[in-house]
Amino acid sequence: MFLVMFGPPGAGKGTQARRLVKRLQIPHLSTGEMLREAKAKGLDVGLQAAQYMDQGRLVPDQLVVDIVIARLQQPDCSHGCLFDGFPRTIEQARLLDEELHARGLKINLVIELVVDFGEVERRMLQRAQQEHRVDDTPETIGRRMSVFRKQTAPLLDFYRQQGVAESIDGMGHPDEVFDRLAHCVDRHMQSQEA
Ligand code: AMP
Repeated sequence: MFLVMFGPPGAGKGTQARRLVKRLQIPHLSTGEMLREAKAKGLDVGLQAAQYMDQGRLVPDQLVVDIVIARLQQPDCSHGCLFDGFPRTIEQARLLDEELHARGLKINLVIELVVDFGEVERRMLQRAQQEHRVDDTPETIGRRMSVFRKQTAPLLDFYRQQGVAESIDGMGHPDEVFDRLAHCVDRHMQSQEA
């Protein structure tokens, strides 16, 4: 099963994704983490990507898609994975669809974490203090939210048209959110089996 965890920066996608992959026993593909790792290793792609990441801008589509496709070709992804922070543009979603279709596969479920933007900002500022990420400063947080609204939010309609998008309430304690998420995935899996 190929899933996408969808929501604005700070919605809790990473936390929920880590729990969901344990339950489903599928790989977790976080493009943010993959790019940070490439940067930390001093790889060329990582250094290219850092110029955009450090400013809170999106890394060019082709660069991200190339990394994702290389990862998808590894055998542990042959039956599914959970994408976190990817796709972030309609072009990325199209390229991902093409890659999966070529192998007779598709995105099965996109789960939107619905959160209020004020809460999201609070969570991000808190995370900035704890993790000291270069891209979690008040300025870059503002830019990342605006990039989400302009470039990423329209993706939801793209997936709604495919009939694969579901929305769950992302507010509240992470355990409550995870219960909703797990229910949503279970319902989807049962409907596929029926
Ligand atoms: P994240 O950890 O998902 O919040 O991603 C951190 C940063 O990595 C983002 O602000 C972007 O600069 C970059 N990034 C991660 N995923 C993508 C993507 N799918 N497309 C473009 N840029 C991305």
